[in-house]
Amino acid sequence: MLHRKVIVMAEAILFVTSILICSVSVYMARSSMRNAIWQRMLDISNCAAASVDGDYLGSLTADEVGSKEYNDLYKKLAVFRDNVELKYIYSLKRSGDGFIFTMDTDPIDPASFGDTAENTEALESAASGTAAVDKVPYTDQWGKFYSAYSPVLDSSGNVVGIIAVDFASDWFDEQLSAQTVSTVRYYIVILICALLVAAILLMLIVRPFMKMHGKLYEEKVSAESANRAKSDFLANMSHEIRTPINAMLGMNEMILRESRRALDEQTDDADLQKHTLKNIVMYSSDVENAGHNLLAIINDILDFSKIEAGRLDLVEQPYRITGLLSSLSSMISLKARDKKLNFFIDVDESLPDELCGDEVRVRQIFTNILNNAVKYTDQGEVTMSLKGEHGDNGMITLVASIKDTGIGIRQEDMEKLFGKFERFDMERNSTVEGTGLGLAITQKLIDMMGGSIGVESEYGKGSTFTVTIPQKIALDVSAQDFMAVAEATTGEEKRRLFTAPSAHILVVDDTRVNLTVISYLLKDTLMMVDTASNGAEAVEMAAKTKYDVIIMDQRMPEMDGTQALHNIRSSNGESKDTPIICFTADAVVGARERYLEEGFSDYITKPVSGYALEEMLLRHLPAAKVDN
Ligand code: ADP
Repeated sequence: MLHRKVIVMAEAILFVTSILICSVSVYMARSSMRNAIWQRMLDISNCAAASVDGDYLGSLTADEVGSKEYNDLYKKLAVFRDNVELKYIYSLKRSGDGFIFTMDTDPIDPASFGDTAENTEALESAASGTAAVDKVPYTDQWGKFYSAYSPVLDSSGNVVGIIAVDFASDWFDEQLSAQTVSTVRYYIVILICALLVAAILLMLIVRPFMKMHGKLYEEKVSAESANRAKSDFLANMSHEIRTPINAMLGMNEMILRESRRALDEQTDDADLQKHTLKNIVMYSSDVENAGHNLLAIINDILDFSKIEAGRLDLVEQPYRITGLLSSLSSMISLKARDKKLNFFIDVDESLPDELCGDEVRVRQIFTNILNNAVKYTDQGEVTMSLKGEHGDNGMITLVASIKDTGIGIRQEDMEKLFGKFERFDMERNSTVEGTGLGLAITQKLIDMMGGSIGVESEYGKGSTFTVTIPQKIALDVSAQDFMAVAEATTGEEKRRLFTAPSAHILVVDDTRVNLTVISYLLKDTLMMVDTASNGAEAVEMAAKTKYDVIIMDQRMPEMDGTQALHNIRSSNGESKDTPIICFTADAVVGARERYLEEGFSDYITKPVSGYALEEMLLRHLPAAKVDN
């Protein structure tokens, strides 16, 4: 845009300058034209005066009019009248204070001998011997004229008469106008050529230059705004992350206090013990909630960075919509119950149960919208209705409508709703946790699946989000009683998956708490769990003992996990071929692929739940050692 502005400005300057130069030139051309005409008028009058016999003209009287000599002189002057651009030619002589006509060659309405002539400054000058021309026009009974006057001398050198030639004032002005018009025309042509040439030159030279500058400027502005967004984001994140950490540390402090008090008091009072345990359970579940919140924030950030890097891929596989809805329902019901909100899911019973798509991401879409509905509603209800629209080629479009009776969204905020880091109504929502990324991620996921998302909202009354997601039908059996499945699956998640008393695993991590957490989580499986606090120690232990699985942290002092993996694989130790699972907090884009390429058998991120850990181990433990 900048280069266009520069070109327009340069052209405008050129245009204005040309107009100024043109005006000055017109002025100068007119004055030189005026001088040239005056000179020509004088030349004619001088020439005519030179052709006249001064002695005869000096002695001419009224009686001479019509004589042969008079007629000869008349013819001489008439030649000038007929052949050049002058209007009248005549002779005058001084009479008293003024001048009278002595001969007039006008064939139509001539002045008579003795008629008074109009006196002008130039006429006076000629009468004193110097030819002159009128600088301003004068008017008499024949019209408006400029006249040139030349003295006629007798043989003694005295001024005895004056030859005057009249040029019509209109003719004079026409000459000047013609000159002006041709000068202006000439300038217009030059101006157009100059503007064209300048525009071409500016396009060729300035445009690329300015374009480059413009690009640099745009890059600078976008870099600055990205930087600002990053700073805002970091400030926001720091707040969002501190909030659950604060809750975790605070609640943990309470657990420690309660536990220490119980230890110090060593009471046998069953009620008091029960009360203490109840408190500890309450504080622990607060810690768990805060941990989940923290994890959700970090997952949002990771998802978002994957989306920004264009590295978020959908993984399609068959799944059961009943399973998805049931886990969604149990999760959201709990949150709704905490806020004393009613929550209903209404599922069209003809919806096929087995679909094919990215279950995790479909769940994420519904979870985000439902979580928001609960977060931004203080009283009333949240409802979700889900139906399917059958399409061609075994496809179905899931149509979900999620309605809340919450705070609603202002009309002016609607268009920014799906923008990154956008949060609204902060004075009302200051205590509601959020990153402003949820809906941006949701919309992106829906776009990737070829679906759509729309919102209708009335500020202060509530909002309805409508989502469509096309999915393949894997098996056309209807998704009837998903609540029954809900109970079954939730139960299943909490249940231990297997026991393997003869299995022996090694867990490597330099953080003592992590080792303790994993040992506790796996306690019910009855496996033998050894621990090592760095890579070197792990390599040593793996050389001596045949482990069934090794769970390996990455960042550790002395020797990191990847180095330990390579050392174990290249050794001749007992656990040379044992599956080694990468256990890391490194969950950024491409991390999984990178670790698998290094040679790890699998990859699991921190924090890990007992269920996920057991599921992972089940895939790698020798089947013979696993009891179900
Ligand atoms: P957040 O993490 O802040 O919830 P989202 O991207 O999910 O981020 O939502 C962006 C903003 O949109 C929220 O901060 C909130 O102001 C508004 N919003 C989203 N859903 C609702 C809703 N159901 N009712 C009212 N406001 C909503």
